[in-house]
Amino acid sequence: MVKVMQTWDDGLVADIDLIGILRRHRAKAAFCLNPGLHQDGRSLSWVREGREIWRLSRGELYAVYDGFEIWSHSLTHPDLTVLSREQLAWEARASRELLEEIFRRQVLGFAYPFNACNDVVKETVRAAGYRWARGPRPQEDDLPPGGPLCGDPLEFPPSCHFLAPDFWERYDRQRFRDGVFFFWGHSCELVGTEMWQEFEARIRGISLDPQAEWCFFHELFPARQ
Ligand SMILES: [Zn+2]
Repeated sequence: MVKVMQTWDDGLVADIDLIGILRRHRAKAAFCLNPGLHQDGRSLSWVREGREIWRLSRGELYAVYDGFEIWSHSLTHPDLTVLSREQLAWEARASRELLEEIFRRQVLGFAYPFNACNDVVKETVRAAGYRWARGPRPQEDDLPPGGPLCGDPLEFPPSCHFLAPDFWERYDRQRFRDGVFFFWGHSCELVGTEMWQEFEARIRGISLDPQAEWCFFHELFPARQ
């Protein structure tokens, strides 16, 4: 049985459509948010290939992400590796406190903005109370038994980005070894009907696979006794 996990970054308006698909197929996922960037209304976050990418308003976060896992993606999405220790600690700690206030539950996962991480960043994130984080390096193919669970949970390696050309090959390799398959991305990378349909087919395919089970990270790392 392969455990399948996914994370989606940045708290975008397009997450609403993505979540519609996830709910239809009972797929679990984590969303990595920057609580310092959500405003009273929806806000333009950047322009990607001529398309405007909008962020959700703060007031809609709770309802949009209901039933999904919430991770911090820092407070304001800086490159954490270039911050002072004080700024770094603030980004890690204040984002967690704000998210816990918004969602009224513990936030234990972290995704490094730009996947940029070093030892100081990692240890600061750990000290701020996070228990796992998406690591900057992808999973090696020849994992030891126990796979990524053997490594540091603050550098938990993803299998691949969701648009990786070898997505299914990597999935199959984990499936045959009863491993962990973990992909990530941004909903704004889904452009046009065809891509959305292909994405839904992928989620449906995993949900229908009797050898696969969707998993939250808090299920993979149960609370310490
Ligand atoms: Zn991001």
